[in-house]
Amino acid sequence: MSQAVAVVASLNVDHIVQAPRIPEPGETLMGFSTSRELGGKGGNQAVAAARLGADVAVIGCVGQDEDGDEYLNALAAEGADVTHVRRSALPTGRAAITVDAEGVNSIVVVAGANADIPAAAAETAIGALPSLRVVAGQLEAAADATERAFAAARERGVLTVLNTAPAADAAGKLLPFSDVVVSNEIEFRQLTGQDPFDGNGLRRGSADLFAAGCRWVIVTLGAEGCAVLDASSSAHVPAVAVRAVDTTAAGDSFVGALAARLAELPGDPITADVVAACGFAAKVAAVVVTRHGAHPSLPTLAEVCAQQE
Ligand code: ATP
Repeated sequence: MSQAVAVVASLNVDHIVQAPRIPEPGETLMGFSTSRELGGKGGNQAVAAARLGADVAVIGCVGQDEDGDEYLNALAAEGADVTHVRRSALPTGRAAITVDAEGVNSIVVVAGANADIPAAAAETAIGALPSLRVVAGQLEAAADATERAFAAARERGVLTVLNTAPAADAAGKLLPFSDVVVSNEIEFRQLTGQDPFDGNGLRRGSADLFAAGCRWVIVTLGAEGCAVLDASSSAHVPAVAVRAVDTTAAGDSFVGALAARLAELPGDPITADVVAACGFAAKVAAVVVTRHGAHPSLPTLAEVCAQQE
């Protein structure tokens, strides 16, 4: 077992509509096209890390349905270890995604089997992966399972990366077990009550997260890049200038790339390592936003390098 990265993962099937704009409440719009793809924040993060060359284990749950079979086969085809993906009586998770003409998306997720990851099994999975360096999680998968996995990882000195997507409400009890917290600007506001663009908002909001036990706070700011804070310093990592067509999986690819890069470090990271890993993650996410969809948009390491030439 050589997996260096584990993702406690939500695994969804995405049903995507391309439309001229996001409909208003109560409005019906004519769209351009539809598609069906594999997604879910955790699955995207796992596949992102695997395509970048990381040895990845997925800890999750799918239904005993065709969507579940398809997802397991797809993860295995990416080279991910699916030993710790269980089958639930609940259906595989689903998302309804609308993407507008500017590439901006709006998403509704129904958790299904993602809510059914047994916490004890998540903890056992961490113990069964002796080469682990990084465990990533988000708030689409069962929070109890993520908490137990993070607690077990922390005990072993394995770095934990919490992505507070899709909404930061459930993040509270995970913060004491999270070394790195990655939030977008909306989640950062939900989590801290502070505006990341407002004067000392980033520093004030992050102070609460450091007090809760986190070591680094990363706030992603879309085309503005991201801010990286530790308890005493902050850095801005710019985004790579590209023409975005669909931002689906931008944040997920960023987290997957971050986990993959941090897992390559010889020891415990210092802040400069985290900043450098964010620079790499920004390059990966810049490729993703130039492509449509979730899994289809995730690049290999060779494609990321080619984009820079
Ligand atoms: P999503 O929910 O759409 O997956 P998110 O809201 O979680 O994304 P963002 O802050 O939008 O996350 O984006 C994450 C990272 O992706 C940014 O820090 C940036 O590096 C990259 N990124 C996002 N949008 C763009 C863009 N238009 N151009 C270049 N890079 C981008």
